[in-house]
Amino acid sequence: MKIFERLESNVRGYCRAFPTVFTTAQGAELHDESGRRYLDFFAGAGSLNYGHNEPQLKQALLDYISADGIVHGLDMATASKRRFMEQFEQLILKPRQLNYKLQFTGPTGTNAVEAALKIARLVTGRTNVVAFTNGFHGVSLGSLATTANSHYREGAGIATSGVTFMPYDGYLGPEVDTLDYLDKALNDGSSGLDHPAAVIVETVQGEGGINVAELSWLQRLGHICKRHGVLLIVDDIQMGCGRTGHFFSFEAAGLQPDIITLSKSLSAYGLPFAMVLLKPELDQWKPGQHNGTFRGNNLAFVTAAAALEHFWQNDQFQVDVQRKGEILRQRLESIAADYPELSVRGRGMVQAIDCQEGELAAQITRHAFEQGLIIETSGSDDQVVKCLPPLIMTEQQLQQGLDILAASVSAAMARQARKQQFKFGAMA
Ligand SMILES: *Cc1c(COP(=O)(O)O)cnc(C)c1O
Repeated sequence: MKIFERLESNVRGYCRAFPTVFTTAQGAELHDESGRRYLDFFAGAGSLNYGHNEPQLKQALLDYISADGIVHGLDMATASKRRFMEQFEQLILKPRQLNYKLQFTGPTGTNAVEAALKIARLVTGRTNVVAFTNGFHGVSLGSLATTANSHYREGAGIATSGVTFMPYDGYLGPEVDTLDYLDKALNDGSSGLDHPAAVIVETVQGEGGINVAELSWLQRLGHICKRHGVLLIVDDIQMGCGRTGHFFSFEAAGLQPDIITLSKSLSAYGLPFAMVLLKPELDQWKPGQHNGTFRGNNLAFVTAAAALEHFWQNDQFQVDVQRKGEILRQRLESIAADYPELSVRGRGMVQAIDCQEGELAAQITRHAFEQGLIIETSGSDDQVVKCLPPLIMTEQQLQQGLDILAASVSAAMARQARKQQFKFGAMA
């Protein structure tokens, strides 16, 4: 590990949580250089929904590279881009009766969010954007302004502006419909809210602690936006591509957002790739007005098209994700049932245990790593243990991972109980 500590910037993060050197990976398993095997409950923060090195996607990629297919082509028309666009239209948009233009941005999620915010402001001529408490939309300046967590915001170095934060669903407890405030503020010229160009929202907050918006809340948000002429941007970078049990996470709510951002698992292979979907009337860019050297990644076009072909021809994959999501949910509920301080939430194959405090969650994930399970925390205090297994994980692997997680929870809870006992013992 020495060169990482000596030479790599202090900004490095995940290598601290998972202190080993990884070498190979297949499906839902990774291996390190000592030959240890790890089960993956993290999936590259949702970038590996189809697992590591999925064999069919790998073959498509190898064939393309062997044939000297175009690797870099700026945003020129290529056969691989055409294939992806045809498949995306045929297998994703048409069956859902969705009508969007496709904008290929720079290859990371935050690139897509920047483009979405820019076009929303350009089209409406307004600057303000409404974002939500605990939301995460990336760390480049425009996106960072819509990201709530001060840990990231403090890294900006300048004031981030043009954004008003509103309480996300559940922020004020289960009894309060937080949209009452947004609706009232939009209606009231003295609320202090500059009429926004757009609202940007995650249907389930991935980095912010697996906060799940009720479908009725999302529907009401859609209605409020429409009524006030505000564009609705759904950031589906982490929750899209099947994670919640449908290709888009907003499908269950029947929403038709004005703008959608996709990245993370879009390439299906862990390759960098991002896209913005725009209602056709919003596509008011002038040619080249927003650009980037790596717009569309031809290798990612190949694997993304192959994934659509292999996984999204019919409902089977989605039904399987929903079924495994249910198993995951029930097992977490039974793990948490023994401890009143733990609670479970999520949707589809993103489920989490809220530990209420970061130290306990860290104990659990540390123990899990020692037992061969890669699992991360999220939330404002990293207090939420989040399960984000690859969607292709077998039921057996899922149960194996959950066995490790269950053991890690009881080990961490026992340790905490011992600490409490010691404290009280010392007092008496
Ligand atoms: C990860 C993420 C982003 C940022 O993507 P990067 O590729 O890290 O820039 C934006 N929005 C959401 C919801 C994310 O989960």
